[in-house]
Amino acid sequence: MVTTSAVAEAKVSANGQVDNVIELEDLHVHFHTKLGVVRAVNGVTLEIPRGKVVGVVGESGCGKSQTAFAIMQLVPPPGRIVAGKIVLYPKNGPPVNVLRYDRNSDEMRAIRGGHVSMIFQEPMTALNPVYPVGDQIMEAILLHQTTDKKEAAARAVDILGKVGLPNPKRLLGTYPHELSGGMRQRAMIALALSCTPDLLLADEPTTALDVTTQAQILDVMRELQAEIGMSILFVTHNLGVIAQMADEVAVMYLGQLVERAPVEELFDEPRHPYTRALMRSIPHLGTPRHARLNVIEGGLPNQYSQVPGCAFHPRCPVAQPGLCDVYQPALRPVTPTVEVSCFLYHNLDGTPVAAPTQTASSGTGPPLGDALPA
Ligand code: SF4
Repeated sequence: MVTTSAVAEAKVSANGQVDNVIELEDLHVHFHTKLGVVRAVNGVTLEIPRGKVVGVVGESGCGKSQTAFAIMQLVPPPGRIVAGKIVLYPKNGPPVNVLRYDRNSDEMRAIRGGHVSMIFQEPMTALNPVYPVGDQIMEAILLHQTTDKKEAAARAVDILGKVGLPNPKRLLGTYPHELSGGMRQRAMIALALSCTPDLLLADEPTTALDVTTQAQILDVMRELQAEIGMSILFVTHNLGVIAQMADEVAVMYLGQLVERAPVEELFDEPRHPYTRALMRSIPHLGTPRHARLNVIEGGLPNQYSQVPGCAFHPRCPVAQPGLCDVYQPALRPVTPTVEVSCFLYHNLDGTPVAAPTQTASSGTGPPLGDALPA
């Protein structure tokens, strides 16, 4: 049950509808370890529009998964959400301040599965190996939707069929280890979608699969997303998958969002130097066989250290000394649909750069155009 203290103020659009299914505001997730503090998520503000797929991309360790875990309050210890706000706007019901609840509370259990579900990268560790797949799906349905076991079984068969699993009735009694990797991932999707959530968090759901199965799973997810009308936060490091799945893309680097744009715009004109570097690193068809692949120069800094200024400045080919290594750029709009955190587009006071430069104003770095794919 939602308590009064957990009810948040809804942001309502001109047509009277709440536009977003969830809004994250200045979210911080820290891991306090003996060696120091790891700032896995460092001030993320992100909205997910209702019925849309938002892809989150970035290198391993940039905070993509921890952002998704934070929404479910499933950040593993010693990680903790230390600051920020998460407001969920359920289809039926008032908006909810998720972080007002204890992670082990009944309210959080009602949100998990009922309003927000998650598909994990490795279904073998996410599904319980000692219970048949059908029991696990029925448990979720019985907890959130109906107390009638016959009806729950019928719904479980229906959803197993929808994710393309053959002979779903027989599968009710099948254990996870009896299924192939692709079938297990489909069963995981069925489990996540069994209660038609408002928001699905997909954490690298196809990374462990071969490309054929990956394509099938992505098709299933897209079809069901359109049918149920849910939103998806799709976490991946695979830009090809993002191009296929997402409506909007958020690019993360060292726990922060550095660019946010509709998917076509991001691929047509990546703006942030990190996004450009990511695009360059995609292997292209026709690349000579022994040609070296493009890589992003440098490496991620020590996870316990805090980089002053722009987090990307030690690796940025167009960093401006005295500016980028001292001040932190904020995520600001450069067009009505695109936001970027970079001093190439905004001055320190937030005003737009007159003609967003494609070269380093200090003249110390190579032209940004040189960093783009040919
Ligand atoms: Fe960061 Fe400066 Fe490079 Fe922009 S130009 S990404 S602010 S280092």
